[in-house]
Amino acid sequence: MLKEQLKEKGKSPNQSGLSSKEAEMKLEKYGFNSIESKDEKHFYDYLKESMKDITILILIVATLLSSYVAFQNHPDDFTEPIVIFSIVILNLYLSIRQQKHAEKSISELNKISVPVSKVFRDGALKEIESLNIVPVDIVQLALGDRIPADAKLLTSSNFFVDESFLTGESEPSEKDPTYISSKEDSLGDRKDLVFSGSLVVTGKANVRVEKTGMNTEIGKISSLLSKEETTIAPLQIKMQKLGKVLGLIAILSGFLAIAIGISKGLSLETSIMTAISMAVAAIPEVLPVVVTISLAVGMRNMALKKTIVRTPSTVETVGGVSIICSDKTGTITENKMIVKEVIIMKDRLTSCLEITEEKDKNLLFLFYLASSMEENTTVTSNPTELAIRKKLASLFTKEELGKVASTFEKIHEVPFDSKRKRMTVLYKVNNQYVSVTKGAFDRLDLIDANNPTYVSKHDELANQAYRVLGVAYKRYDEKPTRLTEEILESQLEFAGFVGIIDPARPESYTAVSIAKQAGIQTVMITGDHLLTAKKIAEDVGILTDGKKAMTGADLHEMSDEKLAHVIDDYRVFARTSPEDKIRIVKAFQKNDEIVAMTGDGVNDAPALKAADVGIAMGGGTEVAKEASDMVLVDDNFATIVQAVEEGRRVYSNIRKSLYAMLGCNISALTIVLISLLVGWGAPVTAVQLLIIKVVADGIPGMSLSIEPVDKKAMMEAPIAKYTSIFAQGLLVKIVEISIVFTGVTLGAILIGRLESIEVSQTMTFIVLGLSTIVHMFNCRSKESILKLRFLSNPLLVMTTFIGALIIILLVTIPFMQTIFGFVSLRAVDWLWVIGLSIFPLVYIEVKKYFGFF
Ligand code: ADP
Ligand code: MG
Repeated sequence: MLKEQLKEKGKSPNQSGLSSKEAEMKLEKYGFNSIESKDEKHFYDYLKESMKDITILILIVATLLSSYVAFQNHPDDFTEPIVIFSIVILNLYLSIRQQKHAEKSISELNKISVPVSKVFRDGALKEIESLNIVPVDIVQLALGDRIPADAKLLTSSNFFVDESFLTGESEPSEKDPTYISSKEDSLGDRKDLVFSGSLVVTGKANVRVEKTGMNTEIGKISSLLSKEETTIAPLQIKMQKLGKVLGLIAILSGFLAIAIGISKGLSLETSIMTAISMAVAAIPEVLPVVVTISLAVGMRNMALKKTIVRTPSTVETVGGVSIICSDKTGTITENKMIVKEVIIMKDRLTSCLEITEEKDKNLLFLFYLASSMEENTTVTSNPTELAIRKKLASLFTKEELGKVASTFEKIHEVPFDSKRKRMTVLYKVNNQYVSVTKGAFDRLDLIDANNPTYVSKHDELANQAYRVLGVAYKRYDEKPTRLTEEILESQLEFAGFVGIIDPARPESYTAVSIAKQAGIQTVMITGDHLLTAKKIAEDVGILTDGKKAMTGADLHEMSDEKLAHVIDDYRVFARTSPEDKIRIVKAFQKNDEIVAMTGDGVNDAPALKAADVGIAMGGGTEVAKEASDMVLVDDNFATIVQAVEEGRRVYSNIRKSLYAMLGCNISALTIVLISLLVGWGAPVTAVQLLIIKVVADGIPGMSLSIEPVDKKAMMEAPIAKYTSIFAQGLLVKIVEISIVFTGVTLGAILIGRLESIEVSQTMTFIVLGLSTIVHMFNCRSKESILKLRFLSNPLLVMTTFIGALIIILLVTIPFMQTIFGFVSLRAVDWLWVIGLSIFPLVYIEVKKYFGFF
C-alpha cells in the first residue's frame, strides 16, 4: 500500500471534462441524477392518516346519532346531521390539505439545500447541482463528499471511502485507479470504482461518472430503502396527546350528559342531542393543526431568512437555545482573508528554492508550493490558500509564476486537516527533492523551534488578530523511501510567517449583544491560535465580563466532570480539533443548557448530532449537512440569532393559540354541564356550538400563528429545558378566562330565559361567539390592543371580521334563523349581548393596564 502511495496514483488524462452542450444532450438521454422514491402517497393514505384523529371520529359518531334522532323525531329536518357532517368534511379537508402542505414545504426546503458536486465542465472545475451530473462527467471528490454517482477512478491520492451501506464493510476501503475490476468482483472488491451514496473519508480523487440516477447500485436497491420519515416535533406529539385527552373528556362528558339527562327525566333524544353538544364543546378540532401550521410557517420564514430547517421540531428547539457555540472562521468572521504581513525569518533558502532575488517573493512562493489548490479552479474552496494566491498574483506576473512553478514537479501531498493544522507537498526540482510544509506555527516540527524571535514575532502577529501561518521545508538528496508524516514533517527548516487578516463580520457584534440580551451566551470555537481567537472574541463582545479562553490542549487535560464544572467560565476555545466540539457540547448540556453548535467538516458531524441544534454551513460538507438540524445558507452568525428569534415567535404564538382556543373549549364545556345540572337542557344546540367553534374559535385561532414577533421576545431569558408549554402562568390564564367566559355566557342564558328558551339560545350563541372573537385580540400580545398595530396581522383581522359577520347574519336573516333555530332579538337584548361580549376584552385590558397580565 505504501508503495502505491508514492506517487499520486494514475495520471490525469483529460481534465477538461464535458462541454455544457454535451452535458445537456446526455442529461436528455439519461435523465436527472436522482433516485425517485417509489411510494407515492395516495388520497387514501391521507384519508387514513386523518381518520386517526379522534375529533373526526367523534364528529362522525355525532353525525350518525343526530341522523338517528332526526329520523325518529323530525324526518323532514336533517339540518343537524348535515351541518355536523359538513364539519367532518371541512375537518378532513383541512387535515389533508395541511398534511400535503407540510410535505410540500419540506420537499421544497430539501430542494433549496440540494447537494452540489465539483465537476469539470468546459475545461474548468465548476460547482454544479449533483442532480445534473451525467455519465462521462469528471467529478473531483474530496474529504467529506457524498459520492454523487457510480464512477471509475482516474486519479487518486490517499483516497478512502466508506461504502458500508452497500457492502456491510465497516472499515473504510482504499480505492485504486490502477486496479481493473471484473464483473465477478463483489462490490466491495471493485477497487477502481466508487458508488453513489458512499462517503469520502480521506484523500482526493478525480473520477469519471459511469452511471447516474436509478442506474446506480443504490438506485437499483432504492425500492428496498424506506423513505425518510418526517420527524414529528415533541410539541406536535404533546398537542396530539392533549387532543386525545380532550377527546376522551368529550366522550365521557357525552355519556355523563346522557346519564344526567335521563336522571332528570329528559327524553332519550334530548339527552343524546345534549350529549352531542357536550362532546362537540370539548373537542379541540383545530388544536393539532395549529401547532403543525405554526411550525410550518416558522420553517418557511426561516428559509426566507437564509436558514434551512431540516425538521419542524427544530423550529421549536431553536427558540429555546441558551448557548450558541459558533465557529470563528467564516461564521463570526467574514472568511474574506487577506495576507497583510509577510515576515521573513530566514535570510537564504536552500538554493533550489531561491527563485528570485526578492526575499518576500521567495517566501510567498514557498507558501504557494505548500498549497493544494489547483490551477483552473473557479471554486473557492480554501480561503486561506486563496488569500496567499491573491497576494502572490500581486507580486508575480502569470508568466513568471508559470515558468518557475513548472520547474517544480509535484510528487506527493499530505493534505491539510484541521486536527493536524498543517499540510505538506513534496516536489522534485532539478533532481533534488524538497518538501514544503505550511501550517500553524506551534504545529511545525522545526529544527530550532524554540528560537525566541520566532515565538515573539508569532505572538505579536496573533495579538493583532492575524491568522498566522508558518512555512518550513526539508531537503532530500534522494526520493524519501516512505512518504509519511513522520518523515516529511519532522526536523524542518523554518522560513517565515504570513499574517492573514480575516475581519469580524460587521453584524457579528450586534448579533452577539442581541443574543446576550436574550439570555443566550455565545461561545467561539476555532482551530486558530489562542491570541488570534481572543482578540476577535474581544472585538465582537464574546469575551467580556471576566470570561476566559482555553486551548484544545487545556481541554484534553480536563476530565469530563471537571469540564462541565468550569465550562461556564469559558467563552473561547482555541486551537481545538473538531473532535473536541462534542465534549464542549456535552459539558454544556450537563448543565442543562440547550446548545446550538455550528460545523462544516466531516469531523464536526458527531458534535452536530449531539447538539440540541446542529447547524451546518451552506458551504460545508454533505456529511455535516446530513448530521445537522439546520443549514445556514449564508454561513453568518447573525443569521443564527435571527433563527432563534423566529423560533421564539413560533413558540409564543402557539401559546397564544392555546390560550385563545382552550379558553373557549373549557367554558363551552362548563356551560353545557351547568345548564344540564340546573335542568335547562342544552344552552345552545350542537350545530350552533360547532359553528362557533369553527368561525369564532378555530379559524381566527389559527391566524394567531402568523402574529409578528413580540417586541420583547429577545429581551427575555430562554425558556428552561423541560418546561411545559403551559408554564409561566398560561394554565392559570386559561382557567381564569374560562371562568370569565362562563360568567358572561351564564349572564346571557339567564337574561334570555326571562323571555324564552329561543331568545336565551340565540343570545348565548352570540355571546359565546363574539366574546371568543373579541378575546383573540387579548391573546395577541401582552400589550394593550390600543398599542398594537391593528393591521400587523391582517389575516386575524379578516378572519375575525368574517367570523363576526357570519354570526350576526345567522341570527338576523330570517331564512337562516329558521334553519338554525334562532329568533330575532329586541334592541335591549342586543345591548346586553354586546356588553357581555366585550366584557372579556375590558377585563383583560384592565389587567394589562395594571401590569397583571
Ligand atoms: P478554523 O476554521 O477554526 O479557523 P482551521 O482548522 O481552519 O480553524 O485552522 C486552524 C489552523 O490551521 C490555522 O490557525 C492555521 O494556522 C492552520 N491552517 C488553516 N488553513 C490552512 C491551510 N490551508 N494550510 C495550512 N495550514 C492551515
Ligand atoms: Mg476552517
